[in-house]
Amino acid sequence: DRSPVSVLGLGAMGKALAGAFLDRGHPTTVWNRTAGRADALVARGARRADTPAEAMAASPVTVVCLLDDAAVRETLGPAAGALAGRALVNLTNGTPEQARAMAGWAAGQGVDYVDGGIMAVPPMIGQDGALILYSGSREAFGAHERTLGALGSAVYLDEDPGRAALYDLALLSAMYGMFGGFFHALAMTGSEKVPAAEFTPMVVGWLNAMIAGLPAMAAAIDSGDHSAADSNVEMQAVSYVNLLDASRAQGVGTELVEPMGALLHRAVAEGLGAGAVSSLVGLLRTDPARR
Ligand code: NDP
Repeated sequence: DRSPVSVLGLGAMGKALAGAFLDRGHPTTVWNRTAGRADALVARGARRADTPAEAMAASPVTVVCLLDDAAVRETLGPAAGALAGRALVNLTNGTPEQARAMAGWAAGQGVDYVDGGIMAVPPMIGQDGALILYSGSREAFGAHERTLGALGSAVYLDEDPGRAALYDLALLSAMYGMFGGFFHALAMTGSEKVPAAEFTPMVVGWLNAMIAGLPAMAAAIDSGDHSAADSNVEMQAVSYVNLLDASRAQGVGTELVEPMGALLHRAVAEGLGAGAVSSLVGLLRTDPARR
């Protein structure tokens, strides 16, 4: 009683998606620009389609996972006109604007459109730990939620097709911020030949301790009350200079850490020095219409 599904794009991620559908017993049709990348999936029982349109015609729902938005447009363009009544779930990484534009294009084709963001690496696909965010057509998501459940934990966010991309990119930004801090920390300790593996457990413990404070910061950001400051902005702006000076003295580039120092100083200049560092979020929002 498994519902058929098609997958366009068999890169590292598309292969994992198609494999998870096969593992759950879904009749799975696959297409990839470089046809040979489908061979291993075909050997596992997938059906090969010669064109994107043929793949989409084979199933009520098609999952697309290509490199970027341009690849999606190039792939789906020739299939236009043949897709009415089908559902398209686009898991290609992209911007909210790209998602909304694709949703508009799909609506013109009579296609139900769901955009998504994959918060997982390929080996996690098919497990509960893989979070996949969805937004767009609520009806299409509801109709295919069980099928999509083969990929991981499915979370539907909003009818705005751009919402999943917004969350996806925001989560990536949090990840890259963490990576940036980690890489800079290792460059600092590495300048004294401390092995990364020796220092990293301390970083993990420290970051976990700091992560515990994020919900309280979120509450301050939502209320706009940044007055409860055990660690005020002005103090942090002063000690941050030491971080930059020590890095330079140790022969470590400061490009990953300078922006935070600049923002701390701007906060002080704008009179936020006595409050909590959670006020910095407001300084980043440059569009008055979106405040
Ligand atoms: P890969 O580089 O492994 O695969 C890229 C895929 O896109 C291939 O199937 C490739 O086809 C196809 N492609 C590229 N350009 C075109 C084009 N012009 N026309 C048709 N097909 C094209 O990337 P991934 O599979 O890793 O990533 C796919 C998407 O998933 C990306 O948007 C990525 O950001 C996202 N993602 C990836 C994660 C990961 O860890 N891998 C994690 C979360 C999201 P061909 O084989 O012919 O080259």
